[in-house]
Amino acid sequence: MQVPFLDLRVQNNSIMPEIQAALSPIIENAQFILGPAVEAFEKDFAAYIGTRECVGLNNGTSALHMALLALGVQPGDEIITTPHTWISTSWAISYVGAKPVYVDIDPQTYNLDPARVKSAITSKTKVILPVHLYGQAADVVQLRSIADEHGLALLEDAAQAHGAKQAGRRIGSIGHVGSFSFYPGKNLGAFGEGGAIVTDDPKIASHVRRLRDHAQDGRHNHVEIGFNTRMEGVQGAVLKAKLPHLDGWNARRREHAAQYTESLKNTPGIILPSCPAAEGHVWHLYVVQVESMDRELFRTKLAERGIATGVHYPTAVPLQPAYQYLGHKPGDFPIAERVMSRCVSLPMFAELTREQVAYTATAIREVLAAGN
Ligand SMILES: *Cc1c(COP(=O)(O)O)cnc(C)c1O
Repeated sequence: MQVPFLDLRVQNNSIMPEIQAALSPIIENAQFILGPAVEAFEKDFAAYIGTRECVGLNNGTSALHMALLALGVQPGDEIITTPHTWISTSWAISYVGAKPVYVDIDPQTYNLDPARVKSAITSKTKVILPVHLYGQAADVVQLRSIADEHGLALLEDAAQAHGAKQAGRRIGSIGHVGSFSFYPGKNLGAFGEGGAIVTDDPKIASHVRRLRDHAQDGRHNHVEIGFNTRMEGVQGAVLKAKLPHLDGWNARRREHAAQYTESLKNTPGIILPSCPAAEGHVWHLYVVQVESMDRELFRTKLAERGIATGVHYPTAVPLQPAYQYLGHKPGDFPIAERVMSRCVSLPMFAELTREQVAYTATAIREVLAAGN
């Protein structure tokens, strides 16, 4: 049996007529950049997340970048964030000339640890920037109260957590700004690059709207240094057509996660992801820690059985060459580094079958039993 890590074609084929109907007007009317399809998606996505505003952008990295600019971050400001994430979270901090201040993660959720965040706050801190890693909600309720107490902004990197909830509210709506990516492999994916910010603050939304379109305030009046970070019409149309399916797709991911957990529980040599309140996790990835054998050997043995896996992510961001200038060394983030040295992402997408999950779980038990 073949078990791909991710197969976008099944999902696209299942809604092809809806997608084609959504795309025709874009092509017929040649509304390729922004336009009515992007506006309609922004309206729907804001309603879905539960914020007043949504601004469509060209990708999730830009969304974080534009959000930090609109939050007024200045060169030299400090932003507290996680070492365990996709690099974009830190890129955005660097783009605005701020300094990323990394604190270690919670060993259960792999997300920012609020207690460590609190002790990292200085007079230069401006923003707390958590990531809802693998689709699991970070403790943003607590982080929001820490931010409010210290007069800081909370920016949620929700690129992996479309539809997750905490305290009954959608992830992205608890911080001052939420940032999303619609990279094709995300839980809600475009037909190319895409991103957005959501917020209840109309000033932040209108600032990002201006920034994304060359900082124009009226045609040919550029009021500050601007960007071209606009969402394309095609992406707005595809995302609007896909959004009504998101909760259903996330429900399927939860079923697969429950099946993995049930089939792999009590298996020696492996640590399973923590299973919090169901609504708090949308299982962008199902990530295990391989304790008893070499990670690459484990992955190779699974690949030999037709099962594709991934590693998200192998190196703590502060230990990347790009961030060498901060002077961190191995051992500075022991929890994140341990998780990152052992983590393996199992196949996960809505259209996986029960047979594929069962086959993968059985293969994992066999590979671990055989050992190195
Ligand atoms: C995907 C991702 C991003 C960046 O999104 P792009 O659309 O690829 O630019 C940012 N943060 C996290 C945590 C991500 O997973």
